[in-house]
Amino acid sequence: LWQRCLSQLESRLSERDINMWLRPLQAVATDHGMDLLAPNELVREQVDREYRGVIESILSGIGGNASQVRVSVGGGERSARADAAPAMRGFRSNLDPRYTFQSFVQGKSNQIARAAAEQAALPENAAYNPLLIYGGVGLGKTHLMHGVGNRMLDLNQRAKVVYVRSEHFVNELITAIRHNRMDDFKAFYRSVDALLIDDIQFFAGKDRSQEEFFHTFNALLESNQRIVLTCDRFPKEVEGLEDRLKSRFSWGLSVAVEPPELETRVAILIAKAEQHDVVLPQEVAFFIAKRVRSNVRDLESALHRLTATAKFSGSPITIDFAKQALQDMLAVYDRLVTLENIQRTVAEYFKIRIHDLNAKKRSRSVARPRQIAMALAKELTNHSLPEIGAAFGGRDHTTVLHACRKIKELRESEPRLDEDYNNLARTLTS
Ligand code: ADP
Ligand code: MG
Repeated sequence: LWQRCLSQLESRLSERDINMWLRPLQAVATDHGMDLLAPNELVREQVDREYRGVIESILSGIGGNASQVRVSVGGGERSARADAAPAMRGFRSNLDPRYTFQSFVQGKSNQIARAAAEQAALPENAAYNPLLIYGGVGLGKTHLMHGVGNRMLDLNQRAKVVYVRSEHFVNELITAIRHNRMDDFKAFYRSVDALLIDDIQFFAGKDRSQEEFFHTFNALLESNQRIVLTCDRFPKEVEGLEDRLKSRFSWGLSVAVEPPELETRVAILIAKAEQHDVVLPQEVAFFIAKRVRSNVRDLESALHRLTATAKFSGSPITIDFAKQALQDMLAVYDRLVTLENIQRTVAEYFKIRIHDLNAKKRSRSVARPRQIAMALAKELTNHSLPEIGAAFGGRDHTTVLHACRKIKELRESEPRLDEDYNNLARTLTS
């Protein structure tokens, strides 16, 4: 029955998905339907979430009893593995089980980094070694790094994955030197399948640590063990980091995480709220995400404050409630981001007069900045299209809408314009 089911699935799904998720399953007929045994938790979760529905409908279509299709992690070693897992995860690997790819919200700002990280978690994938993820504070580097480690453990419970922050590595090294335990230190770090070192900018100026790290690094690379690193900026720009280390980093792949754009910030807020069993209305998510732009950590603390206040007072979460609860956090924002201020800032930036932004003039040198200003007004304020049009010399709302679309399109095709837009948004909100 399962074979017949599989061949029907082949006509509906890609070969890649079939091979990755469905072929590894083992089917056991039961009184009520079918038990599907997955080789690991990752496969189980994916099959349960994505494919169980299709499988059920095919099964009943081909005369099987589909009233109960269960997916579980199966096979004889199941209990042994389950025992091995917690110790490996908690104690030795230092991985935070909450930081997974599943809980990581993807957007334009992080999709390359995320894709690279997912690749890096696959065994025998030498191309991305070392993988270096760099970018500003609170943009998800540590989360992605744990994601790699957790995925590796999902794929192979016995993998020896070790996560350390750079400061910890340095401290351990110092202790090892003091207690004459360098051999243990070396042996430990060279025995891992994957070494995840967070925030390597802390190595700057610590010569002995860099030296030791360099040797560990080479030893691991030589035997194809996985290395993932993060840094708060592009490593070439870290002063006090040895050149030979920097050049080693470039052997692998370096990917950036950027600040998330509005839609991603909204999606993150809603996902985080869900994780805490809080219903966050979309309009409130937009309200917050428009104002808190800099990084995800700030978004999280705004959400945290909001939900704590809501629970405490028993009030539903509305925009007005959010305004109240986050008043002081948002005060700076509301002072800065007014229509007048947007116009003034844009005019200064492009060295034109505010008067020209609002006048009828159509020359390109004025029209483009005007469109940018309108798009910023739409993104950063809660003013309606007609209100924005009115503020720009009495234009109607279709003009504003056109400007927003045009700028969105141009930001994708013209990096210079995108940079101008981002600079302006940053100036206006920080
Ligand atoms: P970094 O290491 O870049 O400073 P972190 O990985 O510590 O940032 O992220 C800060 C917080 O924001 C964490 O709680 C993390 O879970 C969350 N976070 C960042 N990016 C995302 C994302 N894309 N989806 C979900 N949560 C995110
Ligand atoms: Mg971090």
